[in-house]
Order: sequence, then C-alpha cells, then structure tokens
Amino acid sequence: MKILIGGGTGFIGQHLVKQLVFKKGYDVKIISRRSGPDHITWDSLYKNGLSEYYDAIINLSGENILQPFKYRIDGEFLDKVYSSRIETNGFLSKCIENSENPPKVWISTSAIGIYEPHRHNRYTESSETSGNCVISKLCQDNENASKLSENCKTRHVISRTGVVLGRNGGIVYKTWLPFFFGLGGRIGSGKQYFPWIHIDDAVGILEHAIDNETIKGPLNVVAPAFDTNEDFTREFSKAMCRPALFPIPDFVMRTVFGPDFSKVVLEGQCVVPEKAIQSGYNFKYPDLKSACQEVSRWMTFT
Ligand code: NDP
Repeated sequence: MKILIGGGTGFIGQHLVKQLVFKKGYDVKIISRRSGPDHITWDSLYKNGLSEYYDAIINLSGENILQPFKYRIDGEFLDKVYSSRIETNGFLSKCIENSENPPKVWISTSAIGIYEPHRHNRYTESSETSGNCVISKLCQDNENASKLSENCKTRHVISRTGVVLGRNGGIVYKTWLPFFFGLGGRIGSGKQYFPWIHIDDAVGILEHAIDNETIKGPLNVVAPAFDTNEDFTREFSKAMCRPALFPIPDFVMRTVFGPDFSKVVLEGQCVVPEKAIQSGYNFKYPDLKSACQEVSRWMTFT
C-alpha cells in the first residue's frame, strides 16, 4: 500500500509513519516544508501536483497553537495557524478531486475544538457544531476546505482529534518537567472535560480508518472515557509519583497562550468516540490510569 502523509514529521505523524512502515510494511512518503529522504516538499507539490498514485492520503500538518507568548510576539501567528491547516487541506482535496487516479481514502485532521465547550453536553460525530469561537470557527473552516465534491469517489474521513497523550509530544511533553519537580497542578478550575487519547490509539484509529471502508465523515479520535482536567492531573501526578499542588489559574493560561487558544484547555468538551466504537475499534488505553502510567514510565524509570 502507498501512503502519503502531510505533517508526517510531527508528533502524531512520526508515530503513524513508524507504525505503517515497520509494522505494516507500507510504502510511506511524507509531505514537509523541508526536503529529506522519502519527503516531498509542499513547494514541489504546489508546483507539480500529485504525480503518483497513493492508496491513502493523510494530512496532519498544522502550526502548533499552544506555543507560549507566540500570539503576542508573532503578528502572523494566527495566519500561520490558519494557513498551515486550511491551505494544505484545501490543496490536497483539490489535487484528489482533479486526479485521474484518486486515492481510496483521504483523511484530513480537525480537532474536538469544533464542538462548543460545555459542562454537560455529550458530543458524538453527529452533534451540531457552532463556529462561535475562534477555535471552533477554525475547525469548521478547516473541515470545509478539506471536503471533496460529491462526484469524487474517494472516501473522506475527518479526524476530530482530542488531546493526545504521548511521551515525545503534545501536552505531556510540555508539562512533564513541572510535574517531575512536584510543581504540576490542575488548569483553571480543573472541572472542565479533558477529551484525551493515548498516542497509540490516535495512530490505531487512523490505521483503522484507512482499512475500514464503513468509516467516513467526521471521526472523533478520543478515548471512551469522560475525564476532567482534575482527573488527568491526579492520574498523571500519581503515575509520576509526585504531588500536584500548584494549580495554574485561568489568567496565567490566557496571558501565556492568548484568550482564544487557551480556551482549548480552560473549557472542555465531553466527546464520545461513537464511530470508532461502533466500527469495532479496540482501544489499547481506554482509561486514564493506564494511559498515564504508560506515558510516564520513562520519567519514573519503571
Ligand atoms: P505537530 O505540532 O507535531 O506538527 C505537525 C507538522 O505540521 C509539523 O511536523 C510540521 O511539518 C507541520 N507544520 C508546523 N507548522 C507549520 C506551518 N506553519 N505550515 C505548514 N506546516 C506546518 O502536530 P501534531 O502531530 O501534534 O498534530 C497533528 C495534527 O493534529 C495538527 O493539525 C494538530 O492541530 C492536530 N491535533 C493535535 C492534537 C495533539 O494533542 N497533538 C490535538 C488535536 C488536534 P514540517 O515541519 O515537516 O513541514
């Protein structure tokens, strides 16, 4: 099988490439801004289009939104956040539509931020999305840009990813040091939902979506658990054998990440992975305790 992955150099991408190349034996090429072995650069793709057939095309590109003070010091930050998702997804969807030999499956990436933060609502893939805040609007615009015309035969899956827990990227990579020194704590009130997924399952669900022809449209990539930020703080600090006594107040998050992007962690959504469950995906880490124990294993030398 030939697979093309935009953003295959990133946190989720590296894990996915490893799984598809070494466990499945697939032929994988990466689209990146930089050249390298088995890389195609975005510039060359913009110039020459898709010149080969791929069974699956996946896009995981996107400027990271949780970069301290970036919104203050980089006036183009919001543009980069938008263009790195919308231009890349929009371009790939047009390439697929115009291709004489389109892929069987196209997986574009969105996020659970498309659902309005709420204390009680439970969101499945068929729930309404609002577009009422910057993040939700970004996700909506991104999903619209990645859509294919109705006469295109390619199956389109939109991965709505939750907070990915893994050792070498995402929230764990950003917060393990304060937790290691016993300086960790809940974020804001801690009562907000924290829709998480272990990296092995984030990759596992993408692989499942490549293989399973019944999966199309939005796909919630989250664990089948309804935990809050407080639950995560407790389980992560327990797994690291450290106390977690220093909560991070709302205003600190807003100052560091900006009012729009800090919403991602200050206000949560309760998201249900309905399609993954109904299509028979078997979660390796269905509960927070086992996921936190796995990601903190190397930090506690256990
Ligand atoms: P990373 O932050 O690791 O970045 C993925 C890749 O995006 C990078 O390797 C880079 O590839 C490319 N990229 C970064 N900035 C830009 C830019 N300005 N223009 C073009 N390309 C850029 O992301 P993750 O692997 O963590 O996440 C993958 C996708 O999933 C992203 O779209 C993210 O928004 C989404 N997501 C991730 C979550 C998480 O917890 N990790 C949660 C929810 C959604 P290169 O340098 O090779 O060009």
